[in-house]
Amino acid sequence: MSIMVPSKTPALITPGRQALDSALHHLDQAAGQLGLDDGLRTMLATPRRSLTVSVPVRREDGTLDVVQGFRVQHNVSRGPAKGGLRFHPATDIHEVTALAMWMTWKCALVGIPYGGAKGGVAVDPTGLTTRELERLTRRYVNEILPLIGPEKDIPAPDVGTDEQTMAWIMDTYSVSAGYSVPGVVTGKPLTLGGSRGRAGATARGVQITTLAALGRSPEGVTVAVQGFGKVGAPTAQYLSDAGCKVVAVSDATGAVHNSGGLDLARLRAWVAEYGGVLGFPQADAMSHDDLFELDVDVLVPAALEGAITEANAPRIRARLIVEGANGPTTPEADEILAAGGTTVVPDILANAGGVVVSYLEWVQNLQSWSWSAGEVELKLRDLMLGAFSEVTSAAADRGLTLRQAAHVIGVGRVAEAHQTRGLYP
Ligand code: GLU
Repeated sequence: MSIMVPSKTPALITPGRQALDSALHHLDQAAGQLGLDDGLRTMLATPRRSLTVSVPVRREDGTLDVVQGFRVQHNVSRGPAKGGLRFHPATDIHEVTALAMWMTWKCALVGIPYGGAKGGVAVDPTGLTTRELERLTRRYVNEILPLIGPEKDIPAPDVGTDEQTMAWIMDTYSVSAGYSVPGVVTGKPLTLGGSRGRAGATARGVQITTLAALGRSPEGVTVAVQGFGKVGAPTAQYLSDAGCKVVAVSDATGAVHNSGGLDLARLRAWVAEYGGVLGFPQADAMSHDDLFELDVDVLVPAALEGAITEANAPRIRARLIVEGANGPTTPEADEILAAGGTTVVPDILANAGGVVVSYLEWVQNLQSWSWSAGEVELKLRDLMLGAFSEVTSAAADRGLTLRQAAHVIGVGRVAEAHQTRGLYP
């Protein structure tokens, strides 16, 4: 039996709903491979807790806006719920549920003792002043206060949030508790108990898995990166440091291409000054669509869900896709890519470096201790390469794609935790 999804009318298929359909599709495939019974499948398809809140925000001109916020704890069988907080105008409960589900499998896959969660606020953070953002964040945290805590649910950065957002979360929670609780949130600034290596951790994980998947010298390997934010920009740099040639990157403003390789330091300086890659002088402008079709060795989608679909998948020439973003490839695109022999290192493996170093940050917080950059890097590398080799072995043994194999491992571990704990009452 396939997993029951509430019926939908075409007008209601939002990008969030599409993401949730993808997540349920991945679960369904893994459950089939694992031979899970219908009851367990339904439990795994359903979030454990799901909260929608209204967040009133006082604007600088004195008016009041009310935006919707969400926190979904998909699963807590293996440990506290864990996952980022997204500020994006298009976020909805379906997208947040999908992202929470992927967090559950991701944490299980890399073997860290967490369940999966995600938060979202349907707002465009670029349209708010810093003080408005602070008020919004603090009020959102207050609304979800009963759900979060270092033993319960630990938020972190995601699209549209950063270290400063995490500092406000830590402070709001701590003020309410009456003492400092650094372990309630990860991705904090170093001064508040953040971990060395957390800022670039997702990108470092993408670099590690890309190099492992290449299986040859990275020297001269050409790369295109979609997204030049917290994940895309450092990923481009780390791949370039390893010897790859990053020839194209894009962000919301446009895409730029230089077949000789982009000067990434200059590009970052340009973005800092002008707010996006558009107009960068040492490159040619190209369309967002054209970036996906470039004749490169590696393509790194590092923006939002649904970037690679059945519409553009047939024209992708990269032989290796490494998913810095969550859910960038639709199931239909996956089939096209697999049939064409393109390897996809899936999100729950490729971008797990972020949550791995979040875990290391939380462990340091619980111990009131701080590790060196070298210690963090070593542990990150170990966990990422361990998961990578488990996924590639499972894929070879079972004749699966890397995404299917990663889900079989992640879902399998969560199912096993459910079964071993037993059902209460
Ligand atoms: N938002 C990141 C992700 O999607 C990091 C989550 C975390 O560190 O908890 O994996």
